[in-house]
Amino acid sequence: MKCLTCIEQGMTSQVFPGAGMSTCLGHDPYWDEAGVYHSHDPNWHSTNYRCSAGHTWAVSIRQKCPAPGCDFGKDDVKIARKENTNGE
Ligand SMILES: [Zn+2]
Ligand SMILES: [Zn+2]
Repeated sequence: MKCLTCIEQGMTSQVFPGAGMSTCLGHDPYWDEAGVYHSHDPNWHSTNYRCSAGHTWAVSIRQKCPAPGCDFGKDDVKIARKENTNGE
């Protein structure tokens, strides 16, 4: 994990994870007609990160369904960059 803003600006930094949080929508796993277990968890799990240069961002992911061939949650990753708090 590297700070994207630092990469863009040619800087280097250390990255520190902050508090994580997740939405808490209920969901029920199920077995499809072939007896394959699906778990379609609609919750986003996000973790905040901060780099030593003061940039902050959040990475949100959804848990992928374990059923083979099921695309639910595939590539469901969101990176939200926050305002630079350096106050330039
Ligand atoms: Zn940075
Ligand atoms: Zn599924």
